[in-house]
Amino acid sequence: MDQNMVIERGKQLFVQNYAQFPIVLESGEGLYVKDLDGNKYLDLVAGIAVNILGYQDKGFIKAVDEVLHGGLIHCSNLYWNQYAVSAAQKLINLSAMKRTFFCNSGTEAIEATIKLARKYGSSIKAGKTEIITMENSFHGRTMGSLSATGQPVYQKAFEPMLKGFSYAKFNDIESVKSLLNENTCAIFVEAIQGEGGLTAADDKFLQELRVLCNQNETLLVFDEIQSGLGRTGTMFAFEQAKITADVVVLAKGLGGGLPIGAMLVAEKVSEVFAPGDHGSTFGGNLLVAAAANYVLGRLEESSFLENVKQVSSYFRESLKLLKTKYPQILELRGRGLMIGLKFEKPVRELINLCRTKGLLVANAGANILRIVPPLTISKKEVDEALKILDAALNEF
Ligand SMILES: *Cc1c(COP(=O)(O)O)cnc(C)c1O
Repeated sequence: MDQNMVIERGKQLFVQNYAQFPIVLESGEGLYVKDLDGNKYLDLVAGIAVNILGYQDKGFIKAVDEVLHGGLIHCSNLYWNQYAVSAAQKLINLSAMKRTFFCNSGTEAIEATIKLARKYGSSIKAGKTEIITMENSFHGRTMGSLSATGQPVYQKAFEPMLKGFSYAKFNDIESVKSLLNENTCAIFVEAIQGEGGLTAADDKFLQELRVLCNQNETLLVFDEIQSGLGRTGTMFAFEQAKITADVVVLAKGLGGGLPIGAMLVAEKVSEVFAPGDHGSTFGGNLLVAAAANYVLGRLEESSFLENVKQVSSYFRESLKLLKTKYPQILELRGRGLMIGLKFEKPVRELINLCRTKGLLVANAGANILRIVPPLTISKKEVDEALKILDAALNEF
């Protein structure tokens, strides 16, 4: 089948909740993916900040292969599996957290966190079950996480939302204070809003949230699903504000492409869940846990984060130069390899121009170009991307 046939069939077969770009991706190697017609693309999307090791990483393949050849991919959480225990150990070593829960996606990790926060709050005081999140945030698409997502456009058609959520202005501590009360069990925040437009939280804002949460027996929850796991040059983006978290939520890059999410909890909430409180049939099965264990092993190597720091600062400096050449670029956003370029008009056409020239980039909202490449990207690949972006901007 050629690409167009696949696309035409797909359009008939799926509910129409996506607006796919018209290519069918088939294989990958390093930082490159190929479509069904053999066209090659430099991939700075990485399956939306997921494929952090790029494609065909030898160690990754070996780790996953070992499970496949052992014959047992899944055993449920009725039993233990050593891959999940090893992955959990690495997560704990890499964070200042105490325990973890594995699920299959970001939204599920948020759902687990909503339940944990409510049970924690209720144990302090009846009715302490309210959660503050931020305007323009994104926490997922299931009803709980959608209720947490402070963007009415995503919610409107699916009302009523879950009760007990309110939305503060991002980077505005007074707005948080006006909503906070003795019934607030948790505040959810992204250190860098991903879908919301690559906007970074001010260190001071996060530090003040920490103080407010401490004063009010409220959990400070960092949604690091997109910004975590080395993407900004540190294990988690919030660490750069020199504060601690009560809960950290992960997914996207954790399985290097295989679906796994995690909720990490600090000591003070490490005993909140008891047997039967929560669960997941697939969560942390042997296959995905082996993948996560390998990814986390790579994150433990100091050279891995060093590459992110060096390449991202090179990338960002180069983009600043590009910005001086093209005044339609209004702003360079994000941190590390979580990059946003704000334009004065919608970027879909720019994304199409890049693609036809062999470069995959994405958007975050209509006017923001999003670049979230594999964390193994090199300066040489950055140069190639910049060349294509420059050519595309010329026509944009
Ligand atoms: C992607 C994302 C989610 C949702 O994760 P899914 O795996 O798609 O459910 C939640 N929060 C943030 C910050 C994200 O980037």
